Amino acid sequence: MTADVVVVGGGSTGVGVVRDVAMRGFSAVLVERADLAQGTSGRFHGLLHSGGRYVVSDPESARECAEESAIVARIHADAVERTGGYFVTGPDDDPGFADRFLAGAAASGVPAREIGVAEALRTEPRLNPKIQRAIEVHDGTVDGWQLVWGAANSAKAHGAQILTYHRVTRIESREGRVATVVCTDRKKDEEVRIECGFVLNCAGPWAGQVAAAAGCQPVEVVPGRGIMIAMNHRLVNRVINRCIYPDDGDILVPVHTVSIIGTTDVRADDPDRLAIPRDEVRRMLDAGEILIPGFRQARALHAWAGARPLIKDTRVSASDTRHMSRGMAVIDHSERDGIGGLLTIGGGKLTTYRLMAEHIVDEMCRQLGESRPCTTASEAVPGSEGGRNYAVTHRLGDREADRLDDQILCECELVSRSMFERALNEQPTGSLDDLRRQLRVGMGPCQGGFCSVRAAGVAVDGGHVDATRGSELLGGFLKNRWIGLWPILYGDQVRQTALDNWILRGTLDVDHLPGAEAGAEVAA
Ligand SMILES: Cc1cc2nc3c(=O)[nH]c(=O)nc-3n(C[C@H](O)[C@H](O)[C@H](O)COP(=O)(O)OP(=O)(O)OC[C@H]3O[C@@H](n4cnc5c(N)ncnc54)[C@H](O)[C@@H]3O)c2cc1C
Repeated sequence: MTADVVVVGGGSTGVGVVRDVAMRGFSAVLVERADLAQGTSGRFHGLLHSGGRYVVSDPESARECAEESAIVARIHADAVERTGGYFVTGPDDDPGFADRFLAGAAASGVPAREIGVAEALRTEPRLNPKIQRAIEVHDGTVDGWQLVWGAANSAKAHGAQILTYHRVTRIESREGRVATVVCTDRKKDEEVRIECGFVLNCAGPWAGQVAAAAGCQPVEVVPGRGIMIAMNHRLVNRVINRCIYPDDGDILVPVHTVSIIGTTDVRADDPDRLAIPRDEVRRMLDAGEILIPGFRQARALHAWAGARPLIKDTRVSASDTRHMSRGMAVIDHSERDGIGGLLTIGGGKLTTYRLMAEHIVDEMCRQLGESRPCTTASEAVPGSEGGRNYAVTHRLGDREADRLDDQILCECELVSRSMFERALNEQPTGSLDDLRRQLRVGMGPCQGGFCSVRAAGVAVDGGHVDATRGSELLGGFLKNRWIGLWPILYGDQVRQTALDNWILRGTLDVDHLPGAEAGAEVAA
């Protein structure tokens, strides 16, 4: 296989980069070791940043977020809900911070307006009635999987190839320039070699490992681990932020039918092993109570962790990831390691993914002596051409139209049988977990307790897979869901989990179905 450019990593940065490269007329291949957005871009908070969070701590990031969130809401309309957001001063928070916030917002071009506490409480009745001040901003919610697939589909429409489940093992050079990317096709267990003129390393928290596979000096990407917890209701309709210097658990994001509290920020050693410690879970729930009294009475239904790909910043200590710049950085390995045709990108946010791509592809063009302008800000991705953002009710509307003709497979997320079968046809070798990322099947309050068995049944019934493979798919899916359940087993979630356990283990004996052992393996 040959290509002008190989992009490594299928998170938001990688798909943004391959889209940009393809739109500038280069032949391009993206290689991702798992499914698209299975790394940080699928394990984040879901906030389309207005920039408000950074107006005091990192004005440059604030400005970038303000500009890029408007672009993302337009070109990825179908992945964005324009919820709006509030920054509120909690009962014990310093009310003076709101003045610094407003000044910072004005200086960095982040739209922000103070509103009365009464108005905030009228529009968000669950908010703590003891809040002291409220500022309205343009925060939104972004579905990371939808965004990543939208950008990937756009790249494909411009001629790029996307190879998932291809892990880069080696990057070979000839005469001081990269020449071949060597990968393992994990589904076929075969080696794949891609001859190319340029490699763009967008492997997020794993970017250091990929640079090492090219023989470079270690790139200091410091994985800043953060946990998040989904609560079983949409407790608020706007993003609610604490109006304080960024801290743990200060943002509550309404994402589709649930709300997500987060996050922490602790230096991790290995982005493949991210702990969800009980004390951090407790801290998130305590922080939720400050914003929404009675927060703990909602059921915590899933916890997960992601790792920020932060480039080491000499201004702060190497372990202080909270205060490292969220700004993006491009590393040129020709200067640094004597290997031409290789650039690494790190830092940034999902919100600024398009701008990150523009920067690294501009640098590649500069090194190649090509003058090809970036056009990614002006063209909507497939499915978003109409410019309509989604609302939480969008699937209700769809099911209203087809409820008499179609079976509902997942009641929590209103996934129909035909949606599921369509996705299976498009990804015949996909796992149930891969399909979950695109359909949200199993992501609501029952966490797959009811719909996972139906989904596996439909896959077998429709002749897509045989019974053994069906059990494997089910086993893998359940294993993945369980990882996020263990850290939050308390209160009503214990009852829900016991019910699911009885259905799946007690009645269906899923652990002893043919293929169950193989299915228990988690793809990573
Ligand atoms: C806790 C937390 C909360 C966050 N919240 C927000 C938020 O609300 N809003 C926001 O805008 N941003 C948020 N961010 C930041 C945002 O999620 C990240 O900046 C962004 O997702 C990074 O994307 P990426 O493509 O660079 O990395 P990733 O999404 O991690 O992609 C890197 C990819 O490289 C692949 N890869 C690794 N090694 C190899 C290999 N050898 N071969 C092939 N592929 C490989 C991985 O599988 C992975 O898919 C948050 C981050 C964290 C950790």
